[in-house]
Amino acid sequence: MATRAGIGYDIHAKAAGRPLVLGGVRFESDWGLAGHSDADVIAHAIGDALLGAMSLGDLGEHFPPGDPAWQDASSLDLLRRIHALVLARGGRIVNVDASVVAEAPKLAPRRAEMCAAIARALGLVEGQVSVKATTHERLGALGRGEGIAAWAVAMVEVPE
Ligand SMILES: [Zn+2]
Repeated sequence: MATRAGIGYDIHAKAAGRPLVLGGVRFESDWGLAGHSDADVIAHAIGDALLGAMSLGDLGEHFPPGDPAWQDASSLDLLRRIHALVLARGGRIVNVDASVVAEAPKLAPRRAEMCAAIARALGLVEGQVSVKATTHERLGALGRGEGIAAWAVAMVEVPE
């Protein structure tokens, strides 16, 4: 097996009256993130990292934003589908690690829940999934809380 790494990045703007779903977990909030699906920025970054590690293009290619099939789709479902793509190619996910930049809400209290939800979607155990949160120190658009961004890396083993 060869070990391969992938990187993913995503950002969504804050939107009033939308559900706030991060790492597959619904947060109590009067605002959410704008987007075609549930706009789960953490799941999207992880999905892109996995596709990158497999050299399978990007999220938008597999799940086009204009496609009604993904309207308000659960992004955990996208992760399940990406896991299936990895398995179909004889691959195995080693780990995923995400860093989220959010001024609000506080993510740390629900970190374990997010890791568990992502792990379930990807057929992993919790120790293979990491979600870390930081703020943008009030700098720029993210620092003003105008949106949430996430970076992720993924490691996969694929047949040589
Ligand atoms: Zn996204």
